[in-house]
Amino acid sequence: MQLEQIVMSLRDEGHRITPQRIAIMDYLLHTKDHPSADQVHSVVRKRYPMTSLSTVYKTLDLLREKKLVNEIEVWGEARFDAQVDEHINLVCLNCGNIEDIDEKALKNIQAKIAKKSDYLIIKGSFEMHGYCSKCKTEFQ
Ligand SMILES: [Zn+2]
Repeated sequence: MQLEQIVMSLRDEGHRITPQRIAIMDYLLHTKDHPSADQVHSVVRKRYPMTSLSTVYKTLDLLREKKLVNEIEVWGEARFDAQVDEHINLVCLNCGNIEDIDEKALKNIQAKIAKKSDYLIIKGSFEMHGYCSKCKTEFQ
C-alpha cells in the first residue's frame, strides 16, 4: 500500500498522524532491511530528533494491528517487515540480516499442504534460517 493511502485511512479512523509517525511509516515502506524498533528509532531521529522510542513502539503497534507490517522474531528481538504479501524470509543466523524472496513456488507448496491436510489455506509465509551470502563462507 502507498504511504498516502495508509495515512488517509488511519486519519479517517481518527488516529493522530504526526510527521514523526509519517516518517516511521515512510522508512518502513521503503527499506529492504527488516529493522528492529531501535533501528527505526535511530533512522527517524536523524530527521526528527525529538522522536521518542515510545512513539516508535506505538506506531509499530498500530501498523501491526492494521496488518500493515509483519513482525518476525530473531534472537528474541522483534523485527518489522512492511512487505505483507506472501513471501519467504531468509534469516541469517550469523548477522541477523533478513532478505525477502518472492517465490512463486510458495503457492505450489501451499497447494500441496492444502491437499495433504485437507485444509483450506488462505495465506502463509515461510521463514528459512541459515547463513547469508556474506556470512556463509565462515560456515561452509
Ligand atoms: Zn549474514
